[in-house]
Amino acid sequence: MSTPPYRTLRPWLRATFGREVRRVALDAGSTCPNRDGTKGFGGCTYCDVEGSGTGALASGTELAQQLARGIAHARHKGEPVDVIAYFQSYSNTYVAVERLREVLSVVEPWIGTRVVAVSVATRPDTFPPEAVAVLAELARRVPVWVEFGLEAADDRVLTEIHRMHTVADFRAAVERAHAAGLHVIGHAILGLPGDGREGAARTARELARARVGGVKVHNLMILRRTQLEKAWRGGTVGVLDAATYLDWLADFVEELHPDQVLHRITGDAPIEQRLAPRWTLEKNSIHDLLATELDRRGTRQGSRWSTDATPTGRA
Ligand code: SF4
Repeated sequence: MSTPPYRTLRPWLRATFGREVRRVALDAGSTCPNRDGTKGFGGCTYCDVEGSGTGALASGTELAQQLARGIAHARHKGEPVDVIAYFQSYSNTYVAVERLREVLSVVEPWIGTRVVAVSVATRPDTFPPEAVAVLAELARRVPVWVEFGLEAADDRVLTEIHRMHTVADFRAAVERAHAAGLHVIGHAILGLPGDGREGAARTARELARARVGGVKVHNLMILRRTQLEKAWRGGTVGVLDAATYLDWLADFVEELHPDQVLHRITGDAPIEQRLAPRWTLEKNSIHDLLATELDRRGTRQGSRWSTDATPTGRA
């Protein structure tokens, strides 16, 4: 198999941990400041009521049980493999520090046995020093990743989608995480309302400038029970077709730093939850199509990155 013109997750995981690992998604039942009224109600316009997560806690599965089950099911070619405990749903550091400790304590029995890293998803504006300290303490025993949603590097777009944080919040949070020795992953969405092709490139430049170690990117999807559902039904918001997404994705990858690892390049919302787009690209086929597009252009990840690159635009 030829080497793809961009860095993908599995080879990086194998190189980092020396073996196959799987991710176990966990729902600790938090919330977000743009949901609970602190900054607003309703959450991000594209987010469903389960907080972009598993919904496992809501379905009654306790955290320790979620992790134990995930570990029991983690397999590669039929053999048990170690796992990354991924606190996925909502903003996991948007809780009292005692609660954060309690949540993270579920991984303790598995450190040194089956959990090789802990990944904590949160918002850039809910990353207070006390939470950073708790994660830094855990990071002395196991690698800790923190995942921040940037989504778009443009404050006007962030306002439009009701993120209720700024690009400056993202920059500051990444700096705090790096200073604490945490590995950072940044999230981006291409095709958000008010963001265009140049917006996609701008977001990639911001992620490159921030030097986050990993990047997750996907196209805007309209999910049931979201604020965007109404706008989409009313025809005021649209989604990208597959060819356009691939084009913008290729631009995005060219703007990244050559060392950054692409954890994800497509969304994975279940079809019964997703209203648009109706097209789906299997993980393998989108990887093939992206590699083909970059080959056609004669470019690769980092082709447009330069050391003096600073994101331009409205952020
Ligand atoms: S911050 Fe994340 S979980 Fe919270 S409303 Fe936005 S997308 Fe949903």
